[in-house]
Amino acid sequence: MAAMSNNPPNLRPDLARAQVTETARPGQPTIGMVSLGCPKALVDSERILTRLRAEGYGISSDYAGADAVIVNTCGFLDSAKAESLEAIGEALAENGKVLVTGCLGADPEYITGVHPKVLAVTGPHQYEQVLDAVHKAVPPDPNPFVDLMPASGVTLTPRHYSYLKISEGCNHRCKFCIIPDMRGRLASRPVNAVLREAERLVDNGVKELLVISQDTSAYGVDRKHDLHPWRGREVRSHITDLARELGKLGAWVRLHYVYPYPHVRDLIPLMAEKLVLPYLDIPFQHAHPETLKRMARPAAAAKTLDEIAAWRAICPDLTLRSTFIVGYPGETEAEFQTLLDWMDEAQLDRVGCFQYENVDGARSNDLPDHVPAEVKQDRWERFMEKAQAISEAKLDAKVGKRIEVIVDLVEDDAATCRTKADAPEIDGNLFIDEGHTGLQPGQIVTVEVDEAGEYDLWGRLV
Ligand code: SF4
Repeated sequence: MAAMSNNPPNLRPDLARAQVTETARPGQPTIGMVSLGCPKALVDSERILTRLRAEGYGISSDYAGADAVIVNTCGFLDSAKAESLEAIGEALAENGKVLVTGCLGADPEYITGVHPKVLAVTGPHQYEQVLDAVHKAVPPDPNPFVDLMPASGVTLTPRHYSYLKISEGCNHRCKFCIIPDMRGRLASRPVNAVLREAERLVDNGVKELLVISQDTSAYGVDRKHDLHPWRGREVRSHITDLARELGKLGAWVRLHYVYPYPHVRDLIPLMAEKLVLPYLDIPFQHAHPETLKRMARPAAAAKTLDEIAAWRAICPDLTLRSTFIVGYPGETEAEFQTLLDWMDEAQLDRVGCFQYENVDGARSNDLPDHVPAEVKQDRWERFMEKAQAISEAKLDAKVGKRIEVIVDLVEDDAATCRTKADAPEIDGNLFIDEGHTGLQPGQIVTVEVDEAGEYDLWGRLV
């Protein structure tokens, strides 16, 4: 497919190498991208692709494998306009479902006059509208075992927070996971490319950066932690160095998908210094060493309770979020009980829990002793009861405290905000229902907490 080879990813130092080389899982909604024009348009294409990937879409490098094709156009010169129209025509002929964006999209009639069958036209830098159009043309198919973001994450990201993808793929082989088969081995973006994107986001009004990848603590391992120039210095492609530099940009920085490797301890002082939010999203998945071994989890042997205690000693207000799988093949009642006891000790703030299920192609499907559905359900309920009680007690302890919150949404009856302990779309909220009308999304204000619920807080402006 000729047009799709324009600006190939391997010529873009700031694109993750695995960008278009994956194979989609069966049934995965898949999008193709034709990117024409200048580096700015390419950055938009990258942001659109990054967001689609995070939402669980596959990216196809050919028309045949795509459910729809986005053509990111250039309209600067007549020759570029002609090239854009030609690319749209080719995509329509080869695929049929075409969404147009970019500079030429500033004049929608110019496009629809020639190609009336395009599904949607959006202008330059309107990536949120592009994503909206993609959701309509090819609905997402969220998969909790595979996707980086929750199902609710398909709503558009408000401009005051943004996901920042630092790498693609994974070098591990957890038995319940097919990401390494689908997305390949870890491919980290150069540190200066990530920082450039983050800086641009902050310059454009982003107040919170959500760092995502499959394995954030492994960032840069594939690049042997190479050095890149940034602001007149050399910075290492390493999560500690990246987090420190991100923290200097002036936005909240939240780290997701951090595995409990020993070097995570080096991140905690950055939290204590307020460069990075005191928040770790760390997918433990289980606590029993045998279950973790059967899962083939990275850092399975780590003494996680000791690690957690060490982190909290450095940064006492650290919020820990995690996800778990109950009913993994072979999970005995004793193993499950270890998990419950571990929870009592670990006192995690926010917890998600899935009942194990087979995923097409996962190696865990063939393990012996699958757990019956009713046992899984029972364990899930017992686990969630405990997790909720811990979370509620932690929220209760915040009543009477003064804390900073970021405003997400202002409506007539209340402003929906989040504390530093709450990631958007997965954690809770803090609501302000008096004196809130003058607030703006993205504003950071101080509130006194006066009420706590099961997941959310209520407070008033100080
Ligand atoms: S660390 Fe395990 S669960 Fe996470 S992406 Fe890699 S293989 Fe999948």
